[in-house]
Amino acid sequence: MTARTSSASDVLRERANKLTPAGVHSNVRMTGPLVFFERAKGGWLWDADGNDYVDYLLGQGPNFLGHAHEQVNARVAEATSKGLIYGAQHPLEVEAGELFLDTLGWADMVRFSMTGTEADQAALRLARAATGRTKFVRFEGHYHGWLDNVLLAYDDEFHPIAASPGQMESHLDDFYTLPWNDLGALEQLLADKSDDIAAIITEPFMCNTGAVSPQPGYLEGMRTLCDKYGIVLIFDEVITGFRFALGGASERFGVTPDLATYGKAMAGGWPVAALAGKAELMQMFAEGVNHSGTFNASVMACAAVAETLKVLRDDPPYERVEAHGTALMAGLRELATKHDLPLRVQGVGMAFHASFGHNEVVHNFRDLQSLDLDRYNTLSRKLMDNGVWVAGRGIWYVSAAHGDKELNAALERVDATLTAGGF
Ligand code: PMP
Repeated sequence: MTARTSSASDVLRERANKLTPAGVHSNVRMTGPLVFFERAKGGWLWDADGNDYVDYLLGQGPNFLGHAHEQVNARVAEATSKGLIYGAQHPLEVEAGELFLDTLGWADMVRFSMTGTEADQAALRLARAATGRTKFVRFEGHYHGWLDNVLLAYDDEFHPIAASPGQMESHLDDFYTLPWNDLGALEQLLADKSDDIAAIITEPFMCNTGAVSPQPGYLEGMRTLCDKYGIVLIFDEVITGFRFALGGASERFGVTPDLATYGKAMAGGWPVAALAGKAELMQMFAEGVNHSGTFNASVMACAAVAETLKVLRDDPPYERVEAHGTALMAGLRELATKHDLPLRVQGVGMAFHASFGHNEVVHNFRDLQSLDLDRYNTLSRKLMDNGVWVAGRGIWYVSAAHGDKELNAALERVDATLTAGGF
């Protein structure tokens, strides 16, 4: 392993800490080391000291095509050279919207926004407006943005508690929280409370804590219950959309929601999100339900969406990404055996989770607590120090730009990190 220096990052960190709380602009980044990156390309990052990293965090998911994708960036540059935002419509939003809906296949209409957080809020508002009910059902360990009505922590018995000082506790009454992958628990709640419930919002594959597939029949059962009780089914595909398949997790698992939110992989790293869904719901935005945003559907956003979707449709990378992730998982398992460590991985090629602990399959957030997540967090820092950029919470994302070179470099660096120990 080459020796790594950090003096340029150290100086930047000292300056940043003086002007930005914790030196970061998103609290999520407080969980990683404060490295400053100067550039990125494909599956690689380079920090201010010139150290390279194989990137399996991908900016928390958006760089699904790899960093700095030339075709997408060229289109954005060309489009934005003529103007950015008009407070009115422009042709690219029609092109992006048509491609978006055609790619998904199931949705009739779309609204673009800037962040997944906003798209989720728009979905919840729409569901309330459509049903005249106020509450929603959500699941332990799922993330739907940082706002008061969706941010969540748990006490020792998994009761919801506010996750942040300043968060309005009254918002905890906006939702019912259930363990995921437990259809019986959902049936029971709905039998009791369906008159209150506007929506069920779920990550169709649990990506934010663990990498957990829906049990066979679970999403289908959710769909049937929503139909039975007149509840709006919202898939939060902010991570899974365009990453799991062109049609996201909905396509992969064969279940169609009423509304779905997207972000991240849909725009090659550019900041765009979307809410898409059935016409009878979406049309309500034209009839009084408010959804606004100065930067929604900017030229930048629409150029990025249109070109990213063209790239994904012309040469769908899904088999490659799946194969790479599967080989990486196998490699990590082999290294765990070689070093006699209880390192375990679970998930699919596009997104998998690593931690320490037993080898049972984890089905929900409660199961996840039986793993040694802290020990993995310590390992993740060592991995980052050694040039494998990953999330401390265990998730690994693979991009279309990851190939053999990245795989070999990553496994070599993991091997060296496991040999060095200290976690
Ligand atoms: N939903 C899910 C499933 C997410 O993973 C995220 C962000 N990681 C969000 C919503 C919020 O998206 P954003 O950070 O763009 O607001």
